[in-house]
This record gives sequence, structure tokens and C-alpha cells, in this order.
Amino acid sequence: MEILDGKKVSNQIKEEITVEVAQMKKRGEKVPHLAAVLVGNDGASLTYVGSKVRSCKKIGFESTLIHLPEETTEDELLNRVRQLNNDPEIDGYIVQLPLPKHIDEEKVLMAVDPDKDVDGFHPTNFGKMALDMETFISATPFGIMELFKRYNVDTEGKHTVVIGRSHIVGRPISILMSQKGNPGNATVTLAHSRTKNLKELTLQADIIISALGVPKFLKADMVKEGVTVIDVGITRVPDETREKGYYITGDVDYEKVKEKASYITPVPGGVGPMTIAMLLKNTLLARERHTSKN
Ligand code: NAD
Repeated sequence: MEILDGKKVSNQIKEEITVEVAQMKKRGEKVPHLAAVLVGNDGASLTYVGSKVRSCKKIGFESTLIHLPEETTEDELLNRVRQLNNDPEIDGYIVQLPLPKHIDEEKVLMAVDPDKDVDGFHPTNFGKMALDMETFISATPFGIMELFKRYNVDTEGKHTVVIGRSHIVGRPISILMSQKGNPGNATVTLAHSRTKNLKELTLQADIIISALGVPKFLKADMVKEGVTVIDVGITRVPDETREKGYYITGDVDYEKVKEKASYITPVPGGVGPMTIAMLLKNTLLARERHTSKN
């Protein structure tokens, strides 16, 4: 069994980007600038955005955090988005989800300039991804593909069962895994909450990518020997004995499933850090694309 160490690989990717940014600086070029918009004070969102902004600083990017109050109106947020679209200093930006209930996420998403949409959530970018065109691939599925690549996990012809059909993980990773290439060239089954025979499917799977958000959902008796398991789930389980008042767990019953797996990602330290690294990678790509356009 080999652990797919997302922390280690994400550090490698960040080091590679740091070198590129240093070279950009040396050449007197503008360095990549990522902005993050956060509305309200959701604990997990604050943590994610904080860590994205800190990572920017470490690798030499410019970063801007726009923290708006919970009561920000949809129009106010849309105005901020338009300002970011028109600001030549900003190469890419993200609007951290979820947004407060009174704001229509789809409207905000549609307002983001696809050329600055480093989250890859805009339909233009999602569509391009589905058509194998140059685009921004959403950071989490991009990170999973990069893990396969860096560990030389052969995905060709492998039966891959994706659990969860969200627009940000399950759906895009099911498309990427079925695309031509390696990683890719897999035979994909996309399972979701209405799937009737999930265990039957997972028992046939060579690769399982779990993105549903239910702690320890995937048990050892649901997987076959030699399976590759990618655990995308991140759930905060309340625990008063911990300093933070919670601990983080994935979708997989890790200790037992790892005994049967050939490759597995831990939580934390698997897909999570890869997501941040690939967001930074997308921001670097955005900078490079803007330079070649101008
Ligand atoms: P979501 O929360 O939007 O949707 C969950 C999906 O799981 C749905 O498609 C649903 O059909 C499916 N599902 C629910 N119960 C099921 C069941 N019993 N059997 C089969 N399918 C079932 O999905 P999301 O936004 O992709 O988030 C999923 C998990 O991944 C969450 O824990 C989230 O925190 C985590 N996540 C992690 C990262 C990362 O960087 N590691 C990024 C995004 C999301």
C-alpha cells in the first residue's frame, strides 16, 4: 500500500511555482495576483480562504482578501465582482462558497470573467474542460489528476467509481477520468444519492473517488483488494477534547480500507492541500495567459 501524500506533492508544486515567480520578478515582470472574496464568517470558509492567502504570500504571489459582511446584498457583491473583472492588477480570483442564502450563487458565478475564473466554475470553463480545450480546471479535480500523474498511477482502462455528483468535484472528475490520456482513459461510473446498488459497484471498482461528505462512509467490505482510493470528503466532527473543538475526517474508513488498498489518500493531508496548490497553479496560468494576450 502506498499513501498518495498530497501534502508532500503540494509542497513540491508550490516550490516549482516559487521558482517560476522568482524568475518572473527577475525579468521585471508582474507577478501573479490572486484575490479571494469571502462573504460572512463561516468557520470553514475563513480557514480555507486564510490558507489560500497565506500560500500566496509564501510563494511570492500578490494576494488580496476582500472580506465582506454577512449582510452584503447580491448587488453589492456583483459590483465587487465587476470591479475585479475590470482591475488589470488582478489575474484571477475566487468567490468562496457557500454564499449566504440571500445571494444567488449562480448569478455571481455567471458574473465572473472566465479569463479570471481560477476556480474553473464558470460554465465557459466547465464546458471547455468537458471538450478537452485549454481552460481552468477546478482545483480539486485538477489536484486529483495531478496526484495520479505524480505517483504514476495507471488509470487506463480502470473501472473508476465516483461517489457524489457535485458540480465542483464529482461531475468534473468523472469527466476528466473518462477523457483521453493517462491519467484518464478510465471507464467511469458516477454514483450519487439515488444510486441503488452502490456496494455492488464499489466492489467492482479499481479506483474509487469518494466526494460525498459522510464520515467513514466507505467501509472495507465495500472495496476489493488492490483498490485505489481517493478520499475527497472533509467533515468537521465536533470533539470537545480537541483544542479546536472538532476534528477533520474523510469519507473513508481509512484504517481498515488502507489494508486492502494499493494507493490511498489520507484526510487530512491528501486531496485538501492539492486543491490549494492547483488553485495557485491556475493563478500562475492566468498570469501567463494574460501576458501572452497583451
Ligand atoms: P456536495 O456536498 O455538494 O454533494 C454531495 C454529493 O454526494 C451529492 O452529489 C449526493 O448525490 C452524493 N451523496 C450523498 N449521499 C450519498 C449516498 N448515501 N450515496 C451516494 N452518494 C451520496 O458535494 P461536494 O461539494 O463535492 O462535497 C463533498 C465532500 O467533499 C464534502 O465533505 C466537502 O467538504 C468535500 N470537499 C473537499 C474538497 C477538498 O479540497 N478536499 C473540495 C471540495 C469539497
